[in-house]
Amino acid sequence: MEPNVEVERPLKLHFIPFLAAGHMIPLCDIATLFASRGQHVTIITTPSNVQFLTKSLSSADPFFLRLHTVDFPSQQVGLPDGVESMTNTPDPASSVKIYRGAVLLHEPIQDFMEKDPPDCIIGDFMFPWLNELATKLRIPNLAFNGFSLFTVSLMESIRINHLLHSNTDSESGSGSFVVPNFPHRITLSSTPPKVLAGFLENMLEKELKSNGLIVNNFAELDGEECIQHYEKITSHKAWHIGPASLIRRTVQEKADRGQESAVSVHECLSWLNSKGDNSVLYICFGSVCHYPAKQLYEIACAIEASGYEFIWVVPVKKGKEDNSEEEKEKWLPKGFEERNIEKNKGLIIRGWAPQVMILSHPAVGAFMTHCGWNSAVEAVGAGVPMITWPVAGEQFYNEKLITEVRGIGVKVGATEWCLTGFEEREKLVTRDVIEKAVRRLMNGEEAIQIRSRAQEFEEKARRAVQKGGSSEKNLLALIDDLKRLRDSRSLE
Ligand code: UDP
Repeated sequence: MEPNVEVERPLKLHFIPFLAAGHMIPLCDIATLFASRGQHVTIITTPSNVQFLTKSLSSADPFFLRLHTVDFPSQQVGLPDGVESMTNTPDPASSVKIYRGAVLLHEPIQDFMEKDPPDCIIGDFMFPWLNELATKLRIPNLAFNGFSLFTVSLMESIRINHLLHSNTDSESGSGSFVVPNFPHRITLSSTPPKVLAGFLENMLEKELKSNGLIVNNFAELDGEECIQHYEKITSHKAWHIGPASLIRRTVQEKADRGQESAVSVHECLSWLNSKGDNSVLYICFGSVCHYPAKQLYEIACAIEASGYEFIWVVPVKKGKEDNSEEEKEKWLPKGFEERNIEKNKGLIIRGWAPQVMILSHPAVGAFMTHCGWNSAVEAVGAGVPMITWPVAGEQFYNEKLITEVRGIGVKVGATEWCLTGFEEREKLVTRDVIEKAVRRLMNGEEAIQIRSRAQEFEEKARRAVQKGGSSEKNLLALIDDLKRLRDSRSLE
C-alpha cells in the first residue's frame, strides 16, 4: 500500500506559554512531547524567558523544536528591562504589569503568525486574545490552563450553577455548600475571592471556544467519570497527555527543568543519598507563593518539633535578598539553621530548587505543598504523598482531589483563600497543627496506607505515558486529529 503522504507530513505547531514558571514549565514539556513525535514545534516567548527556557529545553531536538522571540513591552507597562515573568516579580503590582504586558503581546504574535501560519496554535488561557487571534487567522487552537480536569469540571459546575454568587445551599452547614450533579460529593467551605472567581470564570468561558483542551494529567487520576462530566456539561474535548514531568528521565534532565537551581545539584543529591527511604519531608510552595515571616516561623518550629529530616524551599523576593541574622530571626527560631546543619537534619534552599529531581529521590517520604497543579502532579508521578496547604488560585480544588477523592494526602487545615499568594494572611496555621499533619503522613498505619495509594498512582502515571498507555494513546490520537483537521482545511 502507498503511504499516505499527507498523514506522514509533520504538523506545524505554535506554542504560546504564559509568562510564569508554573505555566511555562509544563507547556514547554508538552511542546517537547510533540517534538519528540516528529512534529515541528515553535515556542513563542520573550527574550528573558528564552534564557530561562534554553536550559529546560536542552534535551529537545533543535530540528523539531525552535524558539521565536517577541519583545516584551517593558516600557509601556513600566517594568525594568528583563523582568518578563511573574516568577521574578517582587510584588503583586509588578505581576499585574506582567499580565498587562502579556495582553500587549497580541499584536507582535499576530504579526508573526500571519507571516508563518501554523496548523494549530496551542496557547495558555491567560492570554485573553487567543481565540480572537485564531478566529481572525482561521487557525485551529487548543487551550491550556495548567489545571487538572477534575478542577476545571468542578469550576465549570460551580459556574453554570452560579454557586459562587448565591452560595445558599446549606445542606452541609452554614457558609458551605455541596456542588450539585458532580461525580463526587464535594463540599466547599472556602470560596475564592470574588475578583479571582470572576477572572477565572471569564477565562474558562473563553477557552471553551477553542478546539479542545490540553490537560497535564493522566486520565486515571482525573477519573473517567470526571472526563465524561466535563464533556457532557461543556461539549468540549479534553486531551489528557500528562504528567508532562515524566518526559524527564535522567537526573540531569530533571535538574535542568525550570530556573537555575539555588543549590548545587550534586550537593543536594549526596545529601539525599545519605538518608533512608521515605525519611525526608520536602517543603515547597511553588514559584509565586510567599508566606509571611510569622508563618514561616511556625513551620520551622513544627519541623523541629517533629524531629523529621527535611528539605525546605524558601523563595527569595527579587531585589529583597537579605540573609542577615536580624532578617533571619524574623522567620527562623534562633540558631535553627546552625543546629540543623550540625546534626545534618535539614537543608534550607533559598531560591529555586530542582523539584522534580528531589521528588523522585527515594529518600523523600512526604511533600508539603501549596497544591499548585504542577507540584501535585509531579508528586503523583513520583509516588510521594502530600500534606496539602492551598493558598490561592484553584489550589483548594486540587486539594479536594488529592485528599478526599484519591486519598493520597492529608490536609494541613488551611481555609484562607487568597487572591495571589503574595499578600499578608489573616489566619496563621499554628505549629502544633502543622506538626500533627507531618506526623500523620510520615509515620504510622494511616501513613502506610496513604503512601501505598500514592505509589499505585505513580505506577498508573508511568504506565499512562508508556507505549500503549492512556496518555500516549491520547497524544497519538490528538496528532492524527490535528492532521485530519489540517488536511480537511486544505481541501476547502
Ligand atoms: N518549581 C521548582 N523549584 C522551585 C519552585 C517551583 O522546580 O523551587 C517548579 C515546580 O516543579 C512546578 C512549578 O515550578 O513545576 C510550580 O508550579 P505549580 O503549579 O506547582 O505552582 P505555581 O508556582 O504555579 O503556584
